[in-house]
Amino acid sequence: MLIHSGFGMHNKLLVISHEVSILLNPILVKPEWLKKHRISENARNLFLEPLILATLNLPSDQGSALLLASVLNKLFAGRRRDALPMLPRATLHDLFVAPAVAAVESNGGQVLCRAAVVDLEPEDKRVAIAFKNGEHVRFDADLIVLAVPAWRFSKLAKAHVELRDTADRAAELSSSPIVDVSLWFDRPIMPYRFAGLLGSPLQWIFSHPSEPNRSTGENRYRVSAVISHAKSEIGCRNDELARRARTEIERFFPAAKEARQVDQLVIKARRATISARPGQKGLRPGPRTAFGNLFLAGDWTDTDLPATIESAIASGSTVARAVTEAAG
Ligand SMILES: Cc1cc2nc3c(=O)[nH]c(=O)nc-3n(C[C@H](O)[C@H](O)[C@H](O)COP(=O)(O)OP(=O)(O)OC[C@H]3O[C@@H](n4cnc5c(N)ncnc54)[C@H](O)[C@@H]3O)c2cc1C
Repeated sequence: MLIHSGFGMHNKLLVISHEVSILLNPILVKPEWLKKHRISENARNLFLEPLILATLNLPSDQGSALLLASVLNKLFAGRRRDALPMLPRATLHDLFVAPAVAAVESNGGQVLCRAAVVDLEPEDKRVAIAFKNGEHVRFDADLIVLAVPAWRFSKLAKAHVELRDTADRAAELSSSPIVDVSLWFDRPIMPYRFAGLLGSPLQWIFSHPSEPNRSTGENRYRVSAVISHAKSEIGCRNDELARRARTEIERFFPAAKEARQVDQLVIKARRATISARPGQKGLRPGPRTAFGNLFLAGDWTDTDLPATIESAIASGSTVARAVTEAAG
């Protein structure tokens, strides 16, 4: 974007240089602010808005300027490769979950799936957890890292006076939805692995490698579209969302008009991310809690980043340090 001639030097400098320091205050990126600093409509619509929506999952007039400053800092003040978009060739499960499970198991640990934590059971300055794995199980450990989403932590913790304050703040974080629409076609319909769509309710669109149709054996081609901050879409019917997505895809990739759609899948994540509003920092806890053996992790904890995979990883590193320290 910064080398695109359409933005003009003035806008580029405004975005990356001393004006960024203004963003360090936890204020909204208000339209008046953009106007005052002569950030053009082009720079706003083609650069800032897509960047803010993709990273904060909120539009520019609602997002936290503090978080945006962190994103800009990571993008422009780091190494070149830190700013490169990355598209995993493997699934996120293969990339992150499988190696984590393997590491736990190779160290003698056990990973239980579908075992929901249903309660915290305090005793003195420590806490045990209760989880349901068919039956009710009490699990006591020297060190426990609770890595559930903010809203879930809040529900689990609010009954316990030691955690109530943290729980209330976590509840205040609220959330912002994301809708993901996948359509499968009988032929490839876009020439890129991913594309950003400007002036469309679909912000990003990804084409996946071909996959055989289970029933016919013929190849089918999936494209998936992401709608961030999908407040107005979250209540829509799935078939209506798929229909709208197809219309948009045909608008940008006319080859789709000739293609036969063979399947569709709409995923609505109501609580996709915490709401990256101003004031969020004071609501996000660090890794330690009032209980000496209980630690918190997750993208919603205080990482100075919007709730992203990167934030989850940063939180993982922070909690690992805290746990190591506590273990002596
Ligand atoms: C549709 C969608 C698209 C996204 N796209 C992107 C993207 O492009 N880039 C990006 O960086 N981020 C993206 N995100 C955000 C990203 O997925 C999160 O930031 C990341 O997964 C957070 O990781 P986490 O470990 O903190 O939480 P989670 O991944 O939410 O993990 C929390 C886990 O806790 C489990 N859990 C909940 N309750 C309990 C309980 N009671 N007991 C036990 N376990 C429980 C849940 O099942 C879940 O597995 C997207 C999110 C969504 C929903």
